[in-house]
Amino acid sequence: MRGQAAGLIVAGGRGARLGGEAPKQFQDLNGKPVLAWSIEAFAAAGVETVVVVVPPGFEDRARALAPGAIVVAGGAERTDSVRRGLEALTPRLPATVLIHDAARPGLTASMIERLIAALADADACAPAAPGSDSVRTVDRDGWLIACPPREGLVRVQTPQAFRFDALIAAYTAWGSDRVATDDLEIAHAAGLRARLIPGELRLHKLTFAEDFALLEALMADRRMESRTGFGVDAHRFGPGAHVTLCGVEIAHTNGLVGHSDADAGWHALTDAILGALSAGDIGDHFPPSDPQWKGAPSRVFLKHAADLVAKAGGRIVHVDVTLICERPKIKPHREAMRAATAALLDLAIDRVSVKATTTEEMGFTGRSEGLASQAVATIEVPVR
Ligand code: MG
Repeated sequence: MRGQAAGLIVAGGRGARLGGEAPKQFQDLNGKPVLAWSIEAFAAAGVETVVVVVPPGFEDRARALAPGAIVVAGGAERTDSVRRGLEALTPRLPATVLIHDAARPGLTASMIERLIAALADADACAPAAPGSDSVRTVDRDGWLIACPPREGLVRVQTPQAFRFDALIAAYTAWGSDRVATDDLEIAHAAGLRARLIPGELRLHKLTFAEDFALLEALMADRRMESRTGFGVDAHRFGPGAHVTLCGVEIAHTNGLVGHSDADAGWHALTDAILGALSAGDIGDHFPPSDPQWKGAPSRVFLKHAADLVAKAGGRIVHVDVTLICERPKIKPHREAMRAATAALLDLAIDRVSVKATTTEEMGFTGRSEGLASQAVATIEVPVR
């Protein structure tokens, strides 16, 4: 079921009430553009097809935030924007569509999953928060007109989830010249069975300038911070016909002596990642005294460090390795080393740097007694 769900993010507003040079969906909230939070939530829930509707002229900006998404230009009213997003989705024929306002960045994968599950016995489903304030009707000058009962009143949030074909039929019946405040209104007018499930405070909508501080506090558990770690390693040359550096085997007049495969590049990088996590060093995790690590491929060490980052809810942002030796010449193998490192860490290639230097024939690396390496890792982890 989940694979057949599509997301439709309406980021069509220009945020006139908020101020600032960019529309609110592109402004920063807890270190990330507002729109990016919703895109990440859909990705985390395994929803692969996502349409983002933006004001005309902002398509490229949206594509940069959501490389895998279908980006379309919105219309004059929200209803027009959703209609354009639904048209873009129609060729994909998803079973379900979740329509979400980018101005609610507090979306979580678990909310998406709950909504999809609730569609099992409904045509439409949306989160709603009970009202705690009394609701009153007033005129333009603020004079009280009516006091409707609070009983049964709820405040509807997004995403609103629908059976796709049922919503398309509802939109057709609604007509193209009327607007609605949300999609539930259109579904309800067409007689769809809609259920409201408990909403969340963090789905509060960014409307006024002060809402930024409120949402940053509500979403504090998802705030990330950068950490940097540094690693150094060296191995002595000895008998052998090849060396392994950053996962790449290179023919050489010597081998490198070490307890494991002596990949100084990946050892330094493993220590850099562990350093960024303040999680000790490679020797703590893989004691040289333990025979099970003898001759071990260094991919085991590096993968372990990367898994620790993932376990902490973080991600590796960038790594930079410098190999220090006179020989072998590193440059012909540099791209293969970047590719091997990127593949193991599941990173885009532009997040991986491998470079080399000599020490002008000075010191132990200069005399080719051994080879050294330094590495820097930048990671992001949730603020505690
Ligand atoms: Mg080592």
